[in-house]
Amino acid sequence: MFEKVLIANRGEIALRIQRACRELGLKTVAIHSEADADARYVRLADEALCIGPAAPGLSYLNRSAILLAAHVSGAQAIHPGYGFLSENADFAEQVEAAGMSFIGPQPESIRIMGDKVAAKRAMRAAGVPCVPGPDGGLPDDAASTLAIAGEIGYPVIVKAAGGGGGRGMRVVKAANELLDAVAVTREEARRAFGKPELYIEKFLEHPRHVEIQVLCDTHGNALWLGSRDCSLQRRHQKLLEEAPAPGIDPELIRQVGERCVQACRQIGYRGAGTFEFLFENGQFYFIEMNTRLQVEHPVTEMTSGIDIVREQIRIAQGHALDARQADIATQGHALECRINAEDPFTFVPSPGHVSMWEIPGGNGIRVDSHLSAGAQVPPYYDSLIAKIITHGASRDEALDRMRVALAEMRVGGIRTNVELHRSILDDDGFRAGGVDIHHLERWLAARRTA
Ligand code: ADP
Repeated sequence: MFEKVLIANRGEIALRIQRACRELGLKTVAIHSEADADARYVRLADEALCIGPAAPGLSYLNRSAILLAAHVSGAQAIHPGYGFLSENADFAEQVEAAGMSFIGPQPESIRIMGDKVAAKRAMRAAGVPCVPGPDGGLPDDAASTLAIAGEIGYPVIVKAAGGGGGRGMRVVKAANELLDAVAVTREEARRAFGKPELYIEKFLEHPRHVEIQVLCDTHGNALWLGSRDCSLQRRHQKLLEEAPAPGIDPELIRQVGERCVQACRQIGYRGAGTFEFLFENGQFYFIEMNTRLQVEHPVTEMTSGIDIVREQIRIAQGHALDARQADIATQGHALECRINAEDPFTFVPSPGHVSMWEIPGGNGIRVDSHLSAGAQVPPYYDSLIAKIITHGASRDEALDRMRVALAEMRVGGIRTNVELHRSILDDDGFRAGGVDIHHLERWLAARRTA
């Protein structure tokens, strides 16, 4: 049982985690780079330690500096948030070896899921539906590579087992392109991920991105908390998410959710996790599992009534989940708009001094943000500055609330994508629900030529 938590992250998620700790009566330690010294969550924390200069490699990714800060402050647990070290199995191992709790899954689970070939094999074994293609890595010889792709049927996608962040993938439309694509991707994988292993699967042309949130304690209880649709993406970056995924038969979601928790039990998973699927022609296809808290977790919190961060911490303390699967129902609908400090047309980051900060409020509106008027948005990190989350009895009500919330939002001194979100809410395709992962790029292309 721990009483003091070090939060190894920054920005909105550092404040989100700090609030959950405070609700649970836990002391908090904020670590920060020189660039974040004046951040609000740094001021609000019980203790704050500067661990290095602005560059992430020297601060938020600096494992020894973070472990030293934990040691000096007497923190007994570390919450990694998302990004940075959150899916670094070696870091999780170091934290536990130092006698602290890592608020996340066991290092072994992180390792398996970080290897996409191993992850897919584990999921198939648990009965989770996967994208068509073999479970194993790709052999080195041309004839078997061609045979495997031929059997799947073109188009196929060549992916690096160690890939991430949308890199290390190549779509192949016909057999005559396959061997070149394999060679280039293998070289890229060797250089970028230090691991040349590749695999091939069917390339789905018009899928949606639908994911399932899970929570597992260390007493054998595993819950799935409903679905999220994150299909609105630009360059594989999610922009607007919602829960539940609109227009999918709840019974089908229940079946997949049950498979996900089955898989968690099978691998002895601990904490929060997300199963990401492509959804096409009424079928779910597993692509990867994220072994951490996700940016879009609030839409699930709003519709399930479960505080995911609070549960992560309680699970790490050894508590059993209070809720049972039968207690969990999807209540209404929630949306999340990611507000970024960037130009709404060119997407060029727009860091700087925030001269005005007026955020929306009212019934069914939640704003997760670490900013305030007078704050500085540093140029060194992700441009996410706020998440506006709305909840309503229906999708239409959540949309109406989002429209009003975005109209109220006023930010001065830096540019934001609020305007972009306002226009997307007016798009007929999005309003109808269920668009595919290419919808936003098509919409942006049409906007450019209009
Ligand atoms: P990463 O870990 O790099 O995010 P993912 O396996 O999650 O990699 O894939 C990232 C994105 O690539 C997906 O969200 C989807 O847009 C696309 N993608 C991956 N696999 C397929 C596939 N089999 N068919 C179509 N698109 C795919």
